[in-house]
Amino acid sequence: MDSLDTLKLLSSQMTFEPDGEPRINSDTPTCFSPKERDHAFTHPAQLPNGQKIVLLKTLLSSACERDCFYCPFRAGRDFRRATFKPDEFASLFSKMNRGGMAEGVFLSSGVAGGGVRTQDKLLDTADILRKKYQFKGYLHLKMMPGSEKDQVYRAMQLADRVSVNLEAPSTERLAKLAPHKIFIEELLRPLRWVEEIRRSVPAYKFWNGRYPSTVTQFVAGGSDESDLELLNTTNWLMKNVRLKRAYFSAFHPVYDTPLENKPAVNPMREHRLYQASFLLRDYGFDLEDLPFTTESNLPINTDPKQAWAQMNLLHSPIEINQADRHQLLRIPGIGLKGADAILNARRLNRLRDLSTLKKLGIIAERAAPYVLLDGRKSAYQLGLFK
Ligand code: SF4
Repeated sequence: MDSLDTLKLLSSQMTFEPDGEPRINSDTPTCFSPKERDHAFTHPAQLPNGQKIVLLKTLLSSACERDCFYCPFRAGRDFRRATFKPDEFASLFSKMNRGGMAEGVFLSSGVAGGGVRTQDKLLDTADILRKKYQFKGYLHLKMMPGSEKDQVYRAMQLADRVSVNLEAPSTERLAKLAPHKIFIEELLRPLRWVEEIRRSVPAYKFWNGRYPSTVTQFVAGGSDESDLELLNTTNWLMKNVRLKRAYFSAFHPVYDTPLENKPAVNPMREHRLYQASFLLRDYGFDLEDLPFTTESNLPINTDPKQAWAQMNLLHSPIEINQADRHQLLRIPGIGLKGADAILNARRLNRLRDLSTLKKLGIIAERAAPYVLLDGRKSAYQLGLFK
């Protein structure tokens, strides 16, 4: 098999999902975050700074000695595996990059010879790309379970983003998914090291003079955990180790794995978890604001922000002309840009009707039941906004 065949094999194990909803596919290595594996070979991707690029996502090796219960790449499972040597991959990617086929790369791997040894190969690949091939584009490096602190530091000096997949929200839950992964020591500790390093080393020492962002992934429903457990851990990570984002991937059974008979989880659960995590990260919500059911899950059929507003704003609407940014962000239909647009617009004029809100980018139909405009509740006429 030549290098291109190896790349085709490794990359083709990531499949395109046309609906764009992240979920585990039976042929998809779970060391990849869902958003990072939802297209084959290369795909358009939006970077943390908003820039859109063509990203190559691949494994350095699909050989794995671990036996995570949910993973198609687990040791002993029968399928065709392939492995790149660091220089082989770096050379191939460099040609693709120079030929305009890929502007950035997301690189992960199955674990072979231990997490430390595997991480060294990923780091060597990144090092060759940056130094020998002078690659200056986007690089996302996965941290292997059990990576050491100096490897985390080295990854931060080479990559724009580093990630560790926690898979489950706690030690107890992880034991149901991956009994040989150690939650605190192998997975959580590298994320803590990233933050420790950020706090102790000046930014100019890192790639492009910036600290890399960090993300993680959970297999939602894989360990029968609740949404509250997932969001509690996510919230802790955002507050304590500056996690940029958590990815949620609804559990999907994979043939010939110990969980092959476990029912798939409704993909809508991912969507609600994303919505709730953005409320925690960007909208000033606390965990206790979220509308958990008695089973500690989010309602599947309702947007969590809408559910909060129905309980809290329906009988106490917010005056758009007086609300501060924090209050505006609590209103359904008003996003981050919309809140700023309202604050700017009302410096010039009082806002008196829903059509003005609509011109500011607000989803006025959604906001209408929860707002006052110049002291009055708007007559909400759906036809106006069609
Ligand atoms: S470490 Fe676990 S999740 Fe990652 S590729 Fe190996 S078996 Fe799959």
